[in-house]
Amino acid sequence: MSADDLAVAGFVPFSAIDWPGRLSAVAFLQGCPWNCGYCQNPDLIDMKAPGVIPWADIRTTLEQRRGLLDGVVFSGGEPTRQRALLDAVVELKELGFGAALHTSGAYPDRLGPLLPHVDWIGLDIKAPSSRYADVTRRTGSGERAWASLDLVVASEIDYEVRVTVDPTILTLEDVEDIVAEVARRGGRPPVLQETRAEGARPTFVERLGNLRLTDVVPAEALPGIERRVELPSEATPGIREAVSRREATEV
Ligand code: SF4
Repeated sequence: MSADDLAVAGFVPFSAIDWPGRLSAVAFLQGCPWNCGYCQNPDLIDMKAPGVIPWADIRTTLEQRRGLLDGVVFSGGEPTRQRALLDAVVELKELGFGAALHTSGAYPDRLGPLLPHVDWIGLDIKAPSSRYADVTRRTGSGERAWASLDLVVASEIDYEVRVTVDPTILTLEDVEDIVAEVARRGGRPPVLQETRAEGARPTFVERLGNLRLTDVVPAEALPGIERRVELPSEATPGIREAVSRREATEV
């Protein structure tokens, strides 16, 4: 196993919004064990699909951008699914770049060994534990995500907890429960994110309709809890084209 085994589905060479206060590249890793209705990168869920961008190409790009980028954000899909991620992160550090993760916390056992090597984590908490599977459509997901939060809180790492509020599922009481539970576990106050229709499957877009974060969490609710308008990168049209090309090749 080495960084070259990483299945990378997409690469954004420059982003100012995926790692707070840092300029980064973003690598979208293939595969996720969950299946959230609002997933903006559903093409990246398939855990058997191969990557389309060799890690060696990313390494070359980074070496050409030395001094222009602070590091790489690994997103997905679920980046911690791939055991080669640790090798890639270690290699990045040796090259003098930082490393950050956008993770759902689906693999706490794999997240733990990454923590000493990663500089920042954006951790999604999707629901109260009892309602997690309503969002991810996978049993046991809540235990995993909340265990990952405990690991992150106990570490020295800089992090953000974000809650994508799915207005087709979550209620204000659910969001209040999440905020209270994060606080009870010693975590930083979460940031509430709007669910976007862009990139999501048509069935979800139809369900979402005109529902918005404020329909679940009115402006006056949860004072002091940040709402985010600018959201992290999603798989760009270029990535979708690459995935489509891969699928066409596989047929
Ligand atoms: S955890 Fe993230 S990548 Fe996986 S299905 Fe849910 S939204 Fe998509």
